[in-house]
Amino acid sequence: MLSSSLVTHVFVAPHPDDVALSCGGLIHSLRELGQNVAIVTVFSGGPESTMTEYQRTALGFGSKALWPNTEAFRRDNVPADIDERHLVPAWAATPERLEMTQAVASAAARSFWQRASWYRNANIYNAASEARPVADAVPQQGSLEPLDLSGSDATAIRRIEDERYAYHAEASVVWLDLPDAIFRGYSSDEELLGSSRDDDPAPCEALRREILRLEPQTIYLPLAVGNHVDHRHCREAGLALLDEERRWIMPSPDMVGRIVFYEDFPYAWWDGFDGPAALPEGALRLPPGIRLQARYADITDTIERKLAGIRIYGSQVPRLFGDEAGLRRDATGYAARIAAVGGIDGYAERYWGTVRG
Ligand SMILES: [Zn+2]
Repeated sequence: MLSSSLVTHVFVAPHPDDVALSCGGLIHSLRELGQNVAIVTVFSGGPESTMTEYQRTALGFGSKALWPNTEAFRRDNVPADIDERHLVPAWAATPERLEMTQAVASAAARSFWQRASWYRNANIYNAASEARPVADAVPQQGSLEPLDLSGSDATAIRRIEDERYAYHAEASVVWLDLPDAIFRGYSSDEELLGSSRDDDPAPCEALRREILRLEPQTIYLPLAVGNHVDHRHCREAGLALLDEERRWIMPSPDMVGRIVFYEDFPYAWWDGFDGPAALPEGALRLPPGIRLQARYADITDTIERKLAGIRIYGSQVPRLFGDEAGLRRDATGYAARIAAVGGIDGYAERYWGTVRG
């Protein structure tokens, strides 16, 4: 088990883009402080996501983490320094020794990437094979090179955007790959924003397991401003984590204070959202003795990086903002409004922390 003394902040995104839209400024500030950021994207799956929980775990979905990678060492043009026609000295590699080294390297890679469904299959040879390409020949995960996505389906495009955002934000991303609400029987805007279907419970257990596995110091979940069912489900998972302390017999990690809710942008901007009291009656069932307290994150210095991050979700910008000018207008408009409320001269994001009392 890899352990780390670094503080980890886990941001729960109902869909790819939600965290960039709502929390991008804070994420960049945290990374500047050298803190770990992990994004859990929950409903990133398409209609084919009908795997059982066991299959999902066995295949590694839901435990896939991408880390920034800047490897740039080329080995495919390094010449061999041994002339094979001559006697091989005692220290030189033989095919058997090379295979043994390869086996050790592969085992080490598997152990390092144990949380992932894939791993870099380290290649100690300077020639690529089908099973083990030379690392430099493999397209970099999260690369910011232009990609032609015209042949991909919407779910695939959104996942690629999510990967690229993680690269941009120097965050890791975990996909739970649960199917989006439109693939779970919700067939109109009215249904998406209405009451949840009886056969569609919030994935509290899957999210709980994933969140605790990441050992976060702080967990950020959506308030579900705008009432989209996928956002409500994530909020429910957060409330369940808060509530379980009362039910546990064994001591549990203290979630009060560690659970924080964020305001869903741009819904909060469109709705003129001014606090949890504006949520629908009964939407936010906090356990007794726990309340929310506003916190303001000054994002004046990181607003441009936040905008750049949102622009990575190119498939969503036209739908949400019309164009990039509209994105800038709405994102800065909202951040300036929140800053003014919080007494900050510039731009801010607002979070709602959980406190006792
Ligand atoms: Zn969303």
